[in-house]
Amino acid sequence: MTLRPVKGMNDILPDEVGRWHELEAVLRRELELSGYAEIRTPFLESLDLFVRSIGDTTEIVEKQMFSFQRGDETIALRPEGTAGVARAYVGHALHAKEPVSRLYYLGPMFRAEQPQRGRYRQFWQAGAEVYGDPGPGVDAEMIDMLVGILHALGIENLEVCVNSLGSQGTRARYREALRAYLEPKKSALSEHAQKRLEDNPLRILDSKNPKDRDAVQGAPSILDLLEPDDLAHWEGLKRALTALGTPFVVSPELVRGLDYYTRTLFEIRSTAGELGTQNAVLGGGRYDGMVEELGGPKTPAVGFAMGLERVLLAMPKRAAAERPRCFIAPLGERAATEALLIARELRQAGVPALADTRGGSLKSLLRRADSIGARLCLVLGDTELERGVVALKDLVEKSQSDVPRAEVVARTVAALSRPPGSAATPA
Ligand code: AMP
Repeated sequence: MTLRPVKGMNDILPDEVGRWHELEAVLRRELELSGYAEIRTPFLESLDLFVRSIGDTTEIVEKQMFSFQRGDETIALRPEGTAGVARAYVGHALHAKEPVSRLYYLGPMFRAEQPQRGRYRQFWQAGAEVYGDPGPGVDAEMIDMLVGILHALGIENLEVCVNSLGSQGTRARYREALRAYLEPKKSALSEHAQKRLEDNPLRILDSKNPKDRDAVQGAPSILDLLEPDDLAHWEGLKRALTALGTPFVVSPELVRGLDYYTRTLFEIRSTAGELGTQNAVLGGGRYDGMVEELGGPKTPAVGFAMGLERVLLAMPKRAAAERPRCFIAPLGERAATEALLIARELRQAGVPALADTRGGSLKSLLRRADSIGARLCLVLGDTELERGVVALKDLVEKSQSDVPRAEVVARTVAALSRPPGSAATPA
């Protein structure tokens, strides 16, 4: 019986991993340029952390957790990164060390969702959090940085959606206004929305069910109920985005699936590349209450999480950069040991080198060199060993010359640095 990976979990094979490296390198570079430092937190956390931070009536906590019992503790695979980072921020009292902390993370998250293109049960997120800055300027800076990163990755056709959920007071008044609006339409709502009407009516706004979508048409907008401080923050955000020249769309229906958000909420969507219906490449917002909720001091915070599989679906496929590899083909047992030495010397000089010591004919070794895309092949048999030379074949130029053993590394490096076609022989 063939063993398969667990539903919704994917292998990333060597020929795909180059694009992942490229993406991760851009993300690390850009985030570090903006002053974020990496934090690595465990994949497993106590289930209670997610119940307290994400909220027990959210889709994620209600239906999508991978959790298990270990002794008297219920442990969960992290469905997102913000809660763990906030737990670490509080636990290590980072707030006592610096007034503002900028942290980023990159790693797999786990949610038991129905898999489809762009939606998996194990997926990768890169995310960042700023703790200690309450103003809308930092929210706008983060959104602007993200647009810059997506552009740097070649992703166009972006739509930046922004909304404000206000703070607790606004949310409570809005919940009542929405409930009052939907109550008369209750029988037209989906069964799930009818339940949410009691405990979390905001969730009905992002229901995908056509019945619920119809019912919320014309519902009051949270933006009309913002309290003065929330309104000032919201207006400040829009002003800062406008000043930065970052186009945005005001989206009062945007609530997103996590309960911890306050004030600013944003999502960036794209129609680029192979993204289908799962077109949200990243989302984020402010969560000014979470640090306190987890036992820390009152600390404002804002963050985002980006789905790496979705970014890769949206990214244009560029031809992979040619790697100037060198293949070493020893003929016979004595030559095999020498080949290992040469390979080691080449690697020490920074040249990717592969020695094939399985034995075999020159023809089969040359075929292997071709199959791995090697530019150069170093051949050494008994004759070469006796003469103290190695035969250096340029497989692209189709040329060959004998090189003294002591000069192999220098001559290989020189040959690889010449673009193919610029010289007839690696002299
Ligand atoms: P969230 O943590 O739900 O705010 O999601 C942030 C981003 O993570 C989304 O915009 C997606 O790009 C990505 N994402 C969320 N859930 C999944 C999933 N199940 N599979 C792949 N990507 C996901």
